[in-house]
Amino acid sequence: MNMTSHTPTAYNFGFLDEYAKKEVRRAILKAVSIPGYQVPYASREMPMGRGFGTGGLQLTLSLIGPGEVLKVIDQGSDDSVNAVNLRQFIEMTCPGVSTTTRTAEATLIQSRHRIPERPLTGDQIIVLQVPYPDALVVVEPSEDKRKIMHGEADYSRLLVKLYEDIVQFDEITISHRYPTRINGHYVIDPSPIPRWDVPKLHHSRSLALFGAGREKKIYAVPPHTDAEPLVFTDVPFRVEDFRDGEGRRRACERCGCADSFLDEFVDGSGEKVYQCSDSDWCDEHLAEANQGVTA
Ligand SMILES: [Zn+2]
Repeated sequence: MNMTSHTPTAYNFGFLDEYAKKEVRRAILKAVSIPGYQVPYASREMPMGRGFGTGGLQLTLSLIGPGEVLKVIDQGSDDSVNAVNLRQFIEMTCPGVSTTTRTAEATLIQSRHRIPERPLTGDQIIVLQVPYPDALVVVEPSEDKRKIMHGEADYSRLLVKLYEDIVQFDEITISHRYPTRINGHYVIDPSPIPRWDVPKLHHSRSLALFGAGREKKIYAVPPHTDAEPLVFTDVPFRVEDFRDGEGRRRACERCGCADSFLDEFVDGSGEKVYQCSDSDWCDEHLAEANQGVTA
């Protein structure tokens, strides 16, 4: 399939040259073959600063083809500046690609900091933007040593770190980037998704790809693969519970959903307000709730 076409803007389809895209695709195949392994690749300069999702963007641009339906989100929202900029860039450099805000309609989802609430399907790929790809970086500064530790599946120092948390706080306090063991071997940094999203990687029907542009790494959690947060048998993993002072589960102020990940806001009167972080999920539930009222 030759996807080289010169658009009126004179960009190659997908901005990257064909060799760059091929290299990324080869890295993706390797990442899928060795679940959780960080595959090095020659991360290209993109016309935006590293740290703005260039790793995710290179994955998306290497995978996308005409007819694709793309969704770009940042912290669950399609309308944040980062998501809008990335979407516009992809639209400009990939003629024939359509975009959507509906999770159900998307074939390719590029995201920063969230996995959509709606369970993804086998026809969808999620690309996550990664600032720090290596879960071991908190315990070992040398990449050479970290590689050996990963190869030997030696995560004892990471477990000690988690144990220190339990000693000090009675629980593991990591809120984002929770170290997760893939397919019984490699431990990954699942990108700054909340703990809430980590179980969605376990035996997901969709392929999850992780791209770190600055650190030049690609890794994957293939479909139907074990993804287990690192825990101790007597201190189980737990997700955010969003309970109020009386122990009741808070609901979204806007749509009323009581089983989604909530963002906390302070409204005009200084009151704390909670709303779904996933804007498409919230819209869908709001539409359903309104239908219920009119029916
Ligand atoms: Zn909501």
